[in-house]
Parts: sequence; structure tokens; C-alpha cells
Amino acid sequence: MDLGIAGKRAIVCAGSRGLGRGCAEALAGAGVDIVLNARGAEALGQTAHEIAAATGVSVIPVAADITTAEGRARVLEAAGSVDILVNNAGGPPPGLWSDWSRDDFISALDANMLAPIAMMQAVLPGMIERGWGRVVNITSAAVRSPIAQLGLSNTARTGLTGFVAGTSRQVAGQGVVINNLLPGLHATDRAVSLDTAAAKAQGITVEAAAARRAASIPVGRYGTTEEFGATCAFLCSRYAGFIVGQNIMLDGGAANISI
Ligand code: NAP
Repeated sequence: MDLGIAGKRAIVCAGSRGLGRGCAEALAGAGVDIVLNARGAEALGQTAHEIAAATGVSVIPVAADITTAEGRARVLEAAGSVDILVNNAGGPPPGLWSDWSRDDFISALDANMLAPIAMMQAVLPGMIERGWGRVVNITSAAVRSPIAQLGLSNTARTGLTGFVAGTSRQVAGQGVVINNLLPGLHATDRAVSLDTAAAKAQGITVEAAAARRAASIPVGRYGTTEEFGATCAFLCSRYAGFIVGQNIMLDGGAANISI
């Protein structure tokens, strides 16, 4: 299927690995030039090289911490005007409700709420002026089906969800479409670190913890970055113009939400 976005230009934040990389690969496969961000320059450069070699599009790596104003400024400067923005950052650590200080909450809000909001505020005026834009925010299935130990994530991401609920409807009439993708368990490094925490808590091996978590998903496995990236690319396509302000679960049916 031709997504109708060849030649467009995208920023993909936090995309040297995992879900962000899956999105960058799928967009590049659709002919989109990419400005790719992550903090670690070496892995980022390698990923950018691999995607460009596999697809023939331009992939410009910008090593920067997207949760800082300085990092965002460098990404935005390298990108210039963009048609597509994929917002992403690392997730906060798990814990108990009583663990977290004000500073912990501020860090989570910076990474998973204020950074994506700042990126949207930076690119939306240009998209509106040109009459076309797509934004996908990677949030979490925890927004619709909260995960007890991910209180920092639940808190910050529901704040972002509220911002998108209003903003997506304010810009839809000007050709700009904003949606959120809500990953359940996917096979990435983040999943391995959560498997490791679960193994420690339950006194079992990491493999046993992963198998137990996979068995809790109706499809019986973790999601793949390819599946996730393809969904992101579709939401950035010319065909997504009537999908506005949605929170789309990719969780293998794990959350028992009927509508
Ligand atoms: P991952 O495999 O750990 O990859 C994270 C990516 O983000 C890496 O490329 C990392 O590179 C980059 N990154 C992290 N912090 C950054 C920062 N401050 N600035 C720029 N880049 C940054 O994680 P993932 O599994 O793809 O998860 C992506 C997001 O989805 C996270 O917020 C996660 O909490 C959420 N999520 C994931 C799952 C899942 O099952 N995988 C489920 C629900 C929600 P550097 O470290 O080099 O910066």
C-alpha cells in the first residue's frame, strides 16, 4: 500500500532502538526523510546508517536529550520545517506510590508530558501554515489500563493525553492530525528491563518472568517493533486524515476494555 507520504520530512524522537526505531524504519520505508534522535551518538549513528542504507531516504542523526530544552532546540534546528513528528522518550522506572519525590514526578513530567508538548508547540505552527501535518505520540497502554507499579508513567502520560485531546481538535480543521499510540508489551530493551524487575520481585529467572508476562496477553506473545512502526506510519499517511485525537491500543488484547 502506498501511504502517499514519500518525500515528506519527519522528526522521530528517541528512535535509535525499540518502538521509536520501528516507527523510523516504517516511515523511511514509505519514502519519508528522517531526522532521528536519541542520546547515545554511537548507536544512533549506526541505526541512522542502517535505515538509510535499507531504504534510500535521508536519515540525519541528532544526538540529544529530548527531555531538555537545549536538546529539543538542536533537533528542531537540524530538521527545519517538518511534516511529521513522532514523539517518544524513555519511560520512568517502576516503583511504589510512596517511593516518589517531587523531583521524580518533575523528571517524569519533563520526559513523558512536557517534552512532547513542547515539540508539538514548536512544529504545529509550520504544519498549520502548510495545511498538512501528522503527529504521533508514543504513550502507553497504561493510559487506558493503568499498571500499578508504573505510577510515574501513568501520571505523566495521562497529562499528555489530556493535552492531545483538546489540541488535536483545535488543529484538525487546518489539516493537522494528532493521535496517540498506546503500546502494551513489546519486545524491546524496555521490556527486558521490566522483565528483569518482575523476575527480581517474584524470585524467578528473567526468561520465566518474560514467559509469564507473554502468557498474560491473549495473542500469547509480545508485540513487535515492525507491527508498531507500521501502525505509526499509517497514522502518518494521507489516509489518516479522519482519525483525530485517538488513543490506539496495541496490546495484543491484554486490556479488558470492551469499547
Ligand atoms: P527502549 O527500547 O528502551 O528504547 C528507548 C529509545 O529511546 C532508545 O533509542 C533511547 O536511546 C531513546 N531515549 C531514551 N531516553 C531518551 C531521551 N531522554 N532523549 C532522547 N532519546 C532517548 O524503549 P521502548 O520499549 O522502545 O519504549 C519507548 C517508549 O514506549 C518508552 O517511553 C516506554 O516507556 C514506552 N512503552 C514501552 C512498552 C514496551 O513494552 N516496550 C510498553 C509501554 C510503553 P538512548 O538511550 O541512547 O537515548
